[in-house]
Amino acid sequence: MEIPFAESFRIKMVEPIRRSTREERERWIKESKYNLFALSSDQVFIDLLTDSGTGAMSDRQWAAMMLGDESYAGSRSYFNMKKTIKDILGFDYFLPTHQGRAAENVLFSVLVKEGDVVPGNSHFDTTKGHIEFRKATAIDCTIDEAGDTQNEYPFKGNVDLEKLEAVLKQYPKEKISFICLTVTNNTSGGQPVSMENIRGVHTLAKKYGVLLLFDSARFAENAYFIKMREKGYENKTIKEIVREMYQYADLMTMSAKKDAIVNIGGFIAFRSEEIYRQATTFNIMFEGYITYGGMSGRDMNALAVGLDEGTEFDYLDTRIRQVAYLGFKLDEYGIAYQRPAGGHAIFVDALKVLPNVPREEFPAQTLGVELYLESGVRSVEIGAILADRDPVTRENRYPKLELLRLAISRRTYTNNHIDVIAASLKNVYDRRNEITRGYKITYEAPIMRHFTVELEKL
Ligand SMILES: *Cc1c(COP(=O)(O)O)cnc(C)c1O
Repeated sequence: MEIPFAESFRIKMVEPIRRSTREERERWIKESKYNLFALSSDQVFIDLLTDSGTGAMSDRQWAAMMLGDESYAGSRSYFNMKKTIKDILGFDYFLPTHQGRAAENVLFSVLVKEGDVVPGNSHFDTTKGHIEFRKATAIDCTIDEAGDTQNEYPFKGNVDLEKLEAVLKQYPKEKISFICLTVTNNTSGGQPVSMENIRGVHTLAKKYGVLLLFDSARFAENAYFIKMREKGYENKTIKEIVREMYQYADLMTMSAKKDAIVNIGGFIAFRSEEIYRQATTFNIMFEGYITYGGMSGRDMNALAVGLDEGTEFDYLDTRIRQVAYLGFKLDEYGIAYQRPAGGHAIFVDALKVLPNVPREEFPAQTLGVELYLESGVRSVEIGAILADRDPVTRENRYPKLELLRLAISRRTYTNNHIDVIAASLKNVYDRRNEITRGYKITYEAPIMRHFTVELEKL
């Protein structure tokens, strides 16, 4: 008999979670104005809102926490982080920040000016927020395959090089802050970018004299997919693939809450000393002194260990196979999702699962509420609410895809939890013909409205 696959860790500490009744959940979600962000975590049984900062740290990371050096300037923890970034990613300069969006805020304060454009592959929401806040424009150049959830293309995070070149031709290089390459591409479904495509983007960046920034939250998951799917990389280690990827980058912003498996933290890394120096001023203003930037010494230590563990094959294999397992369960039940399964999440195709809810009534949000009511599983909408209004016309934007993201935290849930998630979705799917109405917005913030939006059931 073939020996089945099993996790590459065992469990040393547990945290109880609690089931609730349907009546309780109906009351709580109504009190939360049907915004899943507004629920308290005690009202949630399985939390798939995000994989950001929600993973379980290892024994090695907890041990490193105890060795944190809390000196204001020049702490050992800072040098641990510096050495790890140099060894794994190859950058000489870096600034710690308290999380990914802080890295964006500091770096974009140097590089993004009013009227600029930032081409890239489906920019992440805070990235886009920081671009639009500076009255610049994010231009999406993702390949068209990403817009069809049933297309099995293995690198749906790729940039369409023709679309990118058209942008690079259209604008003078002074107007292009940088190219922003998101690895993996979160917004289009945790989909990877191939090494070939990275090389192609790099070639265009050099040809037109613009900087190339990697938005790097899930760079290690991206490297795993390159190893598994791209010819010529099957025998390379994850760390070798990561080093090659970053040879092509001028800059990176990192949300360490993802692939560095810590609860908080981030950084910017630079090839250019000049840009590093300019960013330093903003780091000191917004984040903290350059050798801690909003992080404690113990957190920097855990981050350094996390970068090392997060780029090990066995860890990534366990992680990504669990996400794929959820995909297999949904296949069994005929539930459509962005294929192939992504690195950190399954993105359910809400337009296919709830075909009777009009787009103006937010089908993915409707599905998220139904899933919560079913069993206390919290997910997040990646659809029209997240897409927000056009900054100029203030009209609602309806993106091609209306998705419900089921983000899987690292080293946190077992496959029994995955079975609960899949069965709950199946129950909602079985009721799809009775679900014909969604929600209307009763309150929204002027930017990044999804975090605080309030809704009313129609
Ligand atoms: C999470 C994320 C960010 C922002 O990082 P935070 O740590 O949440 O501030 C930026 N880009 C991508 C691709 C992300 O996934």
